[in-house]
Amino acid sequence: MAQNSHHKIIIVGGGTAGITMAARLARSGLASDVAIIEPSDDHYYQPLWTLVGAGLFKLSDTRKNTKDYIPPGVTWIKDSVTAASGEKKSIALKSGQTVTCDWMIVASGVELNWDGIKGAKEAMSAPNVSSIYSKDYVEKTFTMLGGVTSGNLLFVFPQPPVKCAGAPQKIMYLADEILRRNGVREACEIHYRSAPGLIFGVPVFAEVLSKVVKRKNIHTHFNQKIIEVRSAENKAIFADTATGLLLPEVTYDYLHLVPPMKPHGFILASDLCGTEGASVGWVDVDPFTLRHKRFPHVFSLGDVCSAPTAKTGAAIRMQAPVVVSQLLAALKGTGSDAKYDGYASCPLVTGFGKVVLAEFGYDGKLMPTFPMNAAKESRLMWWLKTIILPRLYWNFMLRGRA
Ligand SMILES: Cc1cc2nc3c(=O)[nH]c(=O)nc-3n(C[C@H](O)[C@H](O)[C@H](O)COP(=O)(O)OP(=O)(O)OC[C@H]3O[C@@H](n4cnc5c(N)ncnc54)[C@H](O)[C@@H]3O)c2cc1C
Repeated sequence: MAQNSHHKIIIVGGGTAGITMAARLARSGLASDVAIIEPSDDHYYQPLWTLVGAGLFKLSDTRKNTKDYIPPGVTWIKDSVTAASGEKKSIALKSGQTVTCDWMIVASGVELNWDGIKGAKEAMSAPNVSSIYSKDYVEKTFTMLGGVTSGNLLFVFPQPPVKCAGAPQKIMYLADEILRRNGVREACEIHYRSAPGLIFGVPVFAEVLSKVVKRKNIHTHFNQKIIEVRSAENKAIFADTATGLLLPEVTYDYLHLVPPMKPHGFILASDLCGTEGASVGWVDVDPFTLRHKRFPHVFSLGDVCSAPTAKTGAAIRMQAPVVVSQLLAALKGTGSDAKYDGYASCPLVTGFGKVVLAEFGYDGKLMPTFPMNAAKESRLMWWLKTIILPRLYWNFMLRGRA
């Protein structure tokens, strides 16, 4: 028979945001009876998948055991949430159990919506279609790129939101260099087709990236969203983003596909979502306190929350201390001044050994950490991306120390 339980604080999802929150709460020593609901034994550092796709790392280099990152004193409920209610403070699990709580932190990330593009799921089994966005296809990306001798390579940016919105072009820049190294670049064309009308949302970085695509002789096409892949014919179908009108079909020899993304079904079906504007479907939080707008005992951070920032792990690193401060103050019955300023960062890999570190906050405000000109390709930032940030993630962020 299904057993029900109650915890003071429940964290839904044990990915980047969930584990970081659990670790910070455990380290604070001020929060007792914390439980985290996470079904997976595996925890992946997704930011390295761009470099797995380029053959610099193996998928296994980006994986660790979830169990090793559940902090001592925190209860791991190894199960999946099937329904959640902010009003009832309750969560239904796949096992049939119901868990109730006093405080809820929602950190369930996004779901890759392959069904959002007709034919995408079938296309992923073709040898000339890949995606760095899924652990199932990321290594195939390098195999695919290594096998290119000539033809058209098509890189797609779907209708946003997309986590780490820079990644669909980072892998393209690395692909360009792989083709050059293999001596086949002259026999290939690279096309980037993007639903948004800009190469990047922050003008100063868009300017640098426009120069990069020009230098690399990459053909860019904006305001076109992918709606179908006919993999048997090597064709992709796009529609004008604004009007929805169909555009002439595009033939490819190789396709790097990025699926649209959405909240998980249990979030969409819950009372936690926003009902207006960009917050529809996402956990409806105040963008500064990350506290739910209608249920004060609910917080949310990471990719699933409605805060209008870039969905990145870097954003979570700044969101987590705010949620901890707000929650601990609420537990004491006081208030907290801690506010999230929208900080997010995207190390834009423009080639092997080259990164433009884009750091920005709400409304595209530049927020550089380092004193040098951020809008410049830098080898130092490459070392940051490939060596320092992975270590920071596993040893400090997920341990609640950074
Ligand atoms: C290719 C790629 C490149 C990226 N590059 C960068 C980068 O350079 N810099 C950067 O900062 N970020 C980058 N990111 C983004 C970053 O990885 C994400 O923003 C971050 O991992 C989101 O964390 P999260 O906790 O919100 O979601 P996740 O880490 O995805 O965790 C969500 C968790 O919720 C769990 N879950 C889902 N459904 C349920 C359920 N029903 N019940 C219980 N648990 C559930 C999942 O199992 C998962 O563990 C990249 C991502 C990708 C894919």
